[in-house]
Amino acid sequence: MENQNTPHQEEAFRDSLATVTQEGKRKWIFPKKPSGKFYTARSILSVFLLAFLFGAPFIKIGGHPLLLLNVIDRHFVIFGVPFGPHDLHLFALTMIAIIVSVFLFTVVYGRLFCGWICPQTIFMEMVFRKIEYWIEGDWQKQRALKAAPWSGIKIFKKTTKQIIFFTISFLIANTFLSYIIGVDKLYHFISDGPGEHFGTFLAIVIFSGLFYFVFSYFREQACTLVCPYGRLQGVMLDQNSVVIHYDYKRGEPRGKLKKGEENTNGDCIDCGQCVDVCPTGIDIRNGTQLECVNCTACIDVCDSVMTKISKPKGLIRYASKTQIETKRQTLFTPRAIGYTIVLLILVSLISILMTNRTQVELSILRTPGMLFQEQPGEKLSNFYDLKIVNKTFNKFGVSVELENIQGEIKIIGKDLSVEPQGVTEAKFLVILPKSEIKYLKTPIKIAVKSGNKILDVINTSFLGKVK
Ligand code: SF4
Ligand code: SF4
Repeated sequence: MENQNTPHQEEAFRDSLATVTQEGKRKWIFPKKPSGKFYTARSILSVFLLAFLFGAPFIKIGGHPLLLLNVIDRHFVIFGVPFGPHDLHLFALTMIAIIVSVFLFTVVYGRLFCGWICPQTIFMEMVFRKIEYWIEGDWQKQRALKAAPWSGIKIFKKTTKQIIFFTISFLIANTFLSYIIGVDKLYHFISDGPGEHFGTFLAIVIFSGLFYFVFSYFREQACTLVCPYGRLQGVMLDQNSVVIHYDYKRGEPRGKLKKGEENTNGDCIDCGQCVDVCPTGIDIRNGTQLECVNCTACIDVCDSVMTKISKPKGLIRYASKTQIETKRQTLFTPRAIGYTIVLLILVSLISILMTNRTQVELSILRTPGMLFQEQPGEKLSNFYDLKIVNKTFNKFGVSVELENIQGEIKIIGKDLSVEPQGVTEAKFLVILPKSEIKYLKTPIKIAVKSGNKILDVINTSFLGKVK
């Protein structure tokens, strides 16, 4: 991370992790319960995001799920539109666009995603932490409860909390599974009982255990030690990125307020409350750090401190280093502009591909390596390969007809039909009277129909002996 300290600030904080003791043991963080306008806004947003996460599997469009991400069978439904393996190019482009937009967003707005949208932060701070405050009280009460000897009330509180934590983890695991297999299938699995679908049941138990471990024990370490996005901050942020920043120009030199004495220090009264509320245990006054998940708790608490001492709010605020240094903000740096251009190109490409995406994909090719065949009645035939990709939710039958020439088509095998989201491959013969064959390669048009509806007309050629 970039050093944003003022000269007097110590660098000692870089030698240790806020969550690890000198002996190398886990230092449990008891963050003070935040309150303030940012916390309220994040709480409101989290209600909508959680409602969407838990509600979306139940929403259907035309009897099909709003969202289905069946990575096992490579079957996806995004806002009611089905996608399959045949849409790999769209998937690859979308992934690149997401990665570029994450870079772009981070270059300009820092870790806004982490604080406001990331499921880890939302579940941790807006669900599990709130339950903890509700059962065990605020940070000091939690600390006291941990230090207290085991008693009836301690056992009751700890057990209740863990049972609720596991229940929510189980619910999260089931919700994620419903995004993969669909809520109807999940319902069937549940009503059939674990014995019938033991593999799925085991997966649910493992993932419930994993979520429970992350939210009850691992917590902020998922962000500070594991999350690759967090670890990439060092290369994505620059001095113009808007992050949660302590205004050291205004705050330093920090010093306690002394009653009756004139304050000759900066605005920071060194109350330490910004550290007390931090869920990753860091001191934002040391500058931008990898551990900061941009949760805004320190902004809220510092604003309340500033209000109490009659100073302007915003000693800790969303700002870039440039803004702190010069009071000016340059949002769009050459790097950000470059990312924006790449992103716009990708989004345009995806939009064009999506607009031109057909419901059915067809190809007809003359079977390679085969010449024409003589047929009774002064006729010649050619073999063709037909491939039909059905991107819809409906099964349909298919027929093929010659459009521009007299002749007949014989499908090899049974009648053609394509399963929903399926692929059908077939061979057929085109038989033409020799009188129709004027060239070595006669251009022919083959219409592929479903009922009376023409799905496509394919131009190909017929190989034949010219008289
Ligand atoms: S909350 Fe504000 S005033 Fe208190 S220590 Fe942090 S930056 Fe300084
Ligand atoms: S430094 Fe502030 S914004 Fe960053 S994680 Fe800690 S409390 Fe949240």
